[in-house]
Amino acid sequence: MPTRNHFRKTYLVTGGAGFIGSHLCDRLIEAGHGVLCVDNYLTGSRDNIAHLLDHPHFEAMRHDVTFPLFVEVDGIYNLACPASPIHYQRDPVQTTKTSVHGAINMLGLAKRLNVPILQASTSEVYGDPEVHPQTEDYWGHVNPIGTRACYDEGKRCAETLFFDYYREHSLEIKVARIFNTYGPRMHPNDGRVVSNFIVQALKGENITLYGDGEQTRSFCYVDDLVDGLHRLMETNPDVTGPINLGNPGEFTMRELAQQVITETGAGVEMIHRPLPSDDPRQRKPDISQAKAILNWKPGIGLTEGLKPTVAYFRGLIEQGLA
Ligand code: NAD
Ligand code: UDP
Ligand code: UDP
Repeated sequence: MPTRNHFRKTYLVTGGAGFIGSHLCDRLIEAGHGVLCVDNYLTGSRDNIAHLLDHPHFEAMRHDVTFPLFVEVDGIYNLACPASPIHYQRDPVQTTKTSVHGAINMLGLAKRLNVPILQASTSEVYGDPEVHPQTEDYWGHVNPIGTRACYDEGKRCAETLFFDYYREHSLEIKVARIFNTYGPRMHPNDGRVVSNFIVQALKGENITLYGDGEQTRSFCYVDDLVDGLHRLMETNPDVTGPINLGNPGEFTMRELAQQVITETGAGVEMIHRPLPSDDPRQRKPDISQAKAILNWKPGIGLTEGLKPTVAYFRGLIEQGLA
């Protein structure tokens, strides 16, 4: 494990070999901290952290957070959980266990060490929202028995556990509700819209719009998101969240497809495919709290953020990895 000393903090990042987690590891190392990356590599990859493996203040550990973990760290970022519908629906029981048992174990660890712990929650706690844009005081509209429930309800239960540990054990908790995030190191095959559209366009395949393509999402570039997580962890102990982190720029899937076609210069068409069940109609964060409390707002728009993302997928395709 990276050494702990008076000046440098060591953070545990669960899910640290994943898309967002690996960027967070980069960010923490850049800030001079030590990082213990814990991951079972279910959806993450050692490739995402390969450049960090020789760093003296970075250590990677294979571990499943549904089992107890006894380590010594100064703070915990709990990101372990498959995030895309294809991945989290492959083994839905394991998805719920990861969110719930994983939260219990990481909260138990934080309690023993008396250190702050941040939960990567999600806009999915709002389900198919009836309030638009979504504010943190909205309780959500989730189907508890649908195919997305293992993820949505698992994350909701994790939030409950965080707030009960806060009330019962005075633990320092930080809950971030993350909205759709994109950027380099996204999985090429996880079925998410940004990766699907870019890979399709780069391969000269038609772009698949599910449903009428008029549903909306708000896409945050990963560097902005990681900056928000980092700022939230640095807040005073009285700041618990939940706090929305996302880019309020709202796009229909048709608009996103058009932007991808423009950015890649691909001569492809849009084709329609059935809408998956429980697919939220619209989603857009209200980030007033993040602005006021964290002095945070995203700085990278979709056009700008698509450039490095397209370059990343182009590289994967050239290497035969996508
Ligand atoms: P990801 O799949 O790339 O990363 C998740 C990581 O967790 C992977 O490395 C995976 O191997 C690991 N993992 C899964 N189950 C585990 C277990 N039981 N024990 C240990 N490690 C485990 O996904 P991501 O997009 O980087 O998401 C990271 C976190 O952010 C997740 O908690 C996700 O719910 C949350 N989030 C992501 C988004 C988004 O748009 N990407 C939006 C909202 C919330
Ligand atoms: N736990 C852990 N690491 C620790 C401390 C606790 O993984 O350093 C686990 C522990 O195994 C338990 C969970 O966290 O399953 C919750 O711990 P807590 O102390 O809150 O509850 P209890 O052990 O009393 O059930
Ligand atoms: N989507 C689409 N084509 C695809 C993949 C996804 O139109 O090839 C749609 C999907 O139905 C949803 C939106 O894009 O309305 C975002 O999907 P994603 O799985 O990326 O994220 P989530 O639904 O979890 O927000």
